[in-house]
Amino acid sequence: MLRYASRNPNHLPSHFYNLKADLPELPPPPLNPTTKQPLNPTDLEAIFPRSFIAQEISMEKFIPIPPEVLEAYSIYRPTPLIYASKLKDYLDTPARIFYKYEGVSPTGSHKTNTALMQAYLANRDGITTLSTETGAGQWGSALAYACSRFGIKTRVFMVRASYRQKPGRRILMQLFGGEVLESPSPTTDSGKKYYQENPGHPGSLGIAISEAVEVAVRNPDVKYSLGSVLDAVLMHQTIIGLEAERQCQELGVNPDVVIGCVGGGSNFAGLSFPFVRKNLNEKTRIRFIAVEPEACPSITRGKLNYDHGDSVGLTPLLFMHTLGKDFVPPPIHAGGLRYHGMAPLVSHLVKLGIVEARAYSQEKIFKAAEVFLKTEGILPAPESAHAIAAVIDEALEAKRLNKEVNILFNLSGHGFLDINAYERLR
Ligand SMILES: *Cc1c(COP(=O)(O)O)cnc(C)c1O
Repeated sequence: MLRYASRNPNHLPSHFYNLKADLPELPPPPLNPTTKQPLNPTDLEAIFPRSFIAQEISMEKFIPIPPEVLEAYSIYRPTPLIYASKLKDYLDTPARIFYKYEGVSPTGSHKTNTALMQAYLANRDGITTLSTETGAGQWGSALAYACSRFGIKTRVFMVRASYRQKPGRRILMQLFGGEVLESPSPTTDSGKKYYQENPGHPGSLGIAISEAVEVAVRNPDVKYSLGSVLDAVLMHQTIIGLEAERQCQELGVNPDVVIGCVGGGSNFAGLSFPFVRKNLNEKTRIRFIAVEPEACPSITRGKLNYDHGDSVGLTPLLFMHTLGKDFVPPPIHAGGLRYHGMAPLVSHLVKLGIVEARAYSQEKIFKAAEVFLKTEGILPAPESAHAIAAVIDEALEAKRLNKEVNILFNLSGHGFLDINAYERLR
């Protein structure tokens, strides 16, 4: 077996993959928040750029990647597909472990993939500013980078608790020229509700989304950008799985299990969906495992129901696994996984029995991160460490059964800016 897949620039996918074109049955449609009737795409125009809406509702199986975006991707893509031989040796398992490493992107996570595409579309539509929310700052920094590249402005509502405790990514956003506001802020009606109650309100992603959406609705040249959950965002992330599929072929490996952590579901979907397609069309029986934190267990403990994406109720109602729009998860280190809902497409695959879900404790994922650092040499983002913990469990199960399985997982980002969270392991 070859141990290293190539990163040949000629192997950059030319299209994104749209899973909806292959699904035998679609998930229930989004609803208009006021009428509660199925959403008319024009209802979204107050919030999102038109070209983005076109991608969100498209049923085309492959959507071309524009040359300007391909050029931006070529700085860091194809990302490495790595055989984790040291982790395998350490676990003494017959399982073969491979990971796709998205931490090589300019801001250190997979989020750059959709940020570049969304900034490009907004610029093409003549929009001057994208507003968004961010928790720990991975999404905000990815979007600030992408907007600086495509010449538009970013306004980021950053959850106050993170703004104060995790200055690293705030500084990065500001260096890219992004405007960063503490949320809840007094600058929007949505924020004021909470701010006037308590100017030190720690905030939540749900509140920050309401603020960012409100700014878009009130200003015609501002639109809103979301870093996960939506069908089009998941589709942009399929570049990860399409590359991985080709790299696996090159190594002569067929994955038996595909694993990713889930916040809103985009990095998991990005790696998985091209392989889900194989199960649907080629009758392979690949297993898919989505891993969430015990502190924010949307799939394993939430309800599959219509809910808003934000706390105030400005966004369309999505049919998804949700803990309720007012749920405020405890402040775990994996800030990127603290979202009350789940991408409707991931929820749908769980319902169809294609995706399994499990939840892990913070203690367990930090132990997994430490093993990974000491064997493979990469400090994972605490979010990605959830996937690693599941990989280790699967590899140990393979050892117990003496089965040679191929495990593929998404190392969605590096943990360099989460370094304070790791101090406990010294
Ligand atoms: C944001 C983030 C996640 C979670 O978001 P998804 O949309 O579920 O992918 C996971 N890993 C990293 C490194 C992140 O920054």
